[in-house]
Amino acid sequence: MAEAWRAARTVTPVGHLDAAGCNVPSDRVLDVMTAHLRLERERGGYGAVPDLTPARSALAALVDGGPGGGPGRVAFLESGTAAMAALLGGWRLGPGARIGCAPTEYGSTLMLLRHLAPRRGWHLVELPVDGDSRIDPDAVRTRLAAGLDLVIVSHVGSHHGVVQPAAEIGALCGQAGVPFVLDVCQSLGHVDARGTGATAYVGTSRKWLAGPRGVGFLIVPGLTPAMDAPAPTLSGHLWGDPSLDGGEVAPVEGAARYESSEGPIATRAGLGAAVLEHHELGPSAVHAQLADLGRTARGLLDGAGGWRVAEPLDEPSALVTLVPPPGDTAERAAARAARASLLVGVVPTARAPLHLREPVLRVSPPPGTPPDTLESLARTLATP
Ligand SMILES: *Cc1c(COP(=O)(O)O)cnc(C)c1O
Repeated sequence: MAEAWRAARTVTPVGHLDAAGCNVPSDRVLDVMTAHLRLERERGGYGAVPDLTPARSALAALVDGGPGGGPGRVAFLESGTAAMAALLGGWRLGPGARIGCAPTEYGSTLMLLRHLAPRRGWHLVELPVDGDSRIDPDAVRTRLAAGLDLVIVSHVGSHHGVVQPAAEIGALCGQAGVPFVLDVCQSLGHVDARGTGATAYVGTSRKWLAGPRGVGFLIVPGLTPAMDAPAPTLSGHLWGDPSLDGGEVAPVEGAARYESSEGPIATRAGLGAAVLEHHELGPSAVHAQLADLGRTARGLLDGAGGWRVAEPLDEPSALVTLVPPPGDTAERAAARAARASLLVGVVPTARAPLHLREPVLRVSPPPGTPPDTLESLARTLATP
């Protein structure tokens, strides 16, 4: 698997340890995008519209969409953030609706909820986490029994490598008949996201799926009439009575209500190529290799120069976060790493304001990362 990943890329930046920020697309992904741009020039953009059905099906298959799944339940948007904003912004939850989320939730989702809640009359309910920052399913059960109208969980955070118990939470929400939104921006292409039964999934292209920048997506197997785009569009909605004071417009079938017909079509095709490649590599082989890399990285980095790994050392993820020792900072360590040709991330506290107390260093090796890259980072951390 690691060899196939490397062979698919004639150029990989040396020391790239930032798959969770922006991964390295394969040659085929670039070829699909440039070929499409050429075709748009030759035929005119409207004469070159690609069939994105296989791309949509491949994405839906990653979450095992259930009876409501399939290509018609996938919409492309410009980013994960835009997908979440469209999903929550358009969801007709009435005043008094109670929305559960954890303090580990992604900063921009919390910002969006804090913006919408007072305007819509929604109440935010905390889903508590345990000492490992893992959401406690028993507490979710209690909160559901007390009344929730929506549950939102990030499967893996941007700032912390713990894999949240999405299948357990999804099952509890399913039993309670409460919709469940799973943010898979850091989990698709990284850890198994099937079998969670979520109502909707929010994802992005450029991270573990190794697609191009500038595209995110929604997968909505559990679409209900209350779920619509925040604003109607000609491609996503049908006229009722088109007179000026006429009837309500109605959303079209499926996820197309969320998608704009205009957009970076070549980029959507590039994401499709990346997801098909991920299926060819074998999602379980990729997940296993990344869990291995994560364990290796945590073993090598924990304690180096006094830096401490924030998540359990055997967590089955390749998103590794490190807390600085007194006298060092994530920013300084990332700058030292850059001088040693190592690309790592710095996660500011704004990314998870209810959870992060100080910026952490994020190390997220793509598949096929050689162990000596991680050893070299351990030496960099140990020599401020
Ligand atoms: C990156 C990320 C997002 C947002 O995705 P963008 O494409 O950057 O807008 C949302 N949630 C999590 C957990 C992320 O890591």
